[in-house]
Amino acid sequence: MNAGRYVFLGPPGAGKGTQADLVADKLGIPHIATGDMLRDEVARGTDLGRQARAIMEAGDLVPDELVIAMLARRLEDADGFILDGFPRTEPQALALDDLLRDRPLDRVVSLDVPDEEIVRRISGRRVCPNGHVYRIPDHPPRNDMVCDVDGLPVEQRPDDREEVVRNRLAVYRRNTEPLIEFYRQRGLLAEVSGVGTIDEIQHRILDVL
Ligand code: AMP
Repeated sequence: MNAGRYVFLGPPGAGKGTQADLVADKLGIPHIATGDMLRDEVARGTDLGRQARAIMEAGDLVPDELVIAMLARRLEDADGFILDGFPRTEPQALALDDLLRDRPLDRVVSLDVPDEEIVRRISGRRVCPNGHVYRIPDHPPRNDMVCDVDGLPVEQRPDDREEVVRNRLAVYRRNTEPLIEFYRQRGLLAEVSGVGTIDEIQHRILDVL
């Protein structure tokens, strides 16, 4: 059994979630997406959800200490995993090192997609309440606007509106993109083009893991 520990980096709309889902299934390891976990906290109206909601709707970053504490609990019982959407800042990357200690990361995959393609993709993105991701027109659900996996309605995320997407991209460039260099220096980085069909991209990723 593959218990690899992987991080998927990339701008919003790079296809991290879609690819992380597929690859995690294939390898039999959990797909851990901090964005999905936070949306779940918001939906359940927890303390954390109440603190995170407005920040997420504006496309800004939830404070490091909150996200790190949430992820620390989730990683306790996970040996292998694909992390999607974490780390997003250098303090988060350092905290991840601490959390993993004697079971370090195996690979960091950076999915690269040009800005104009990102905007096109995000405007077509639809998600179900459990985080399964579709994209119109290239990857729609089989039945009109209900999730293939759990039959729930798929919708546009509130933070996928254009002006919020622009802010999320700026936040990515400022806070998260420097992590590419951080992981390159540790010899963990694999850069993969995120342009192409879902299958093509999946194979590129599997080749570098
Ligand atoms: P995502 O689904 O990964 O695009 O995340 C959606 C939103 O959740 C982001 O725009 C942030 O507001 C918040 N979020 C998710 N992961 C993190 C993280 N690691 N650090 C800070 N905020 C996060």
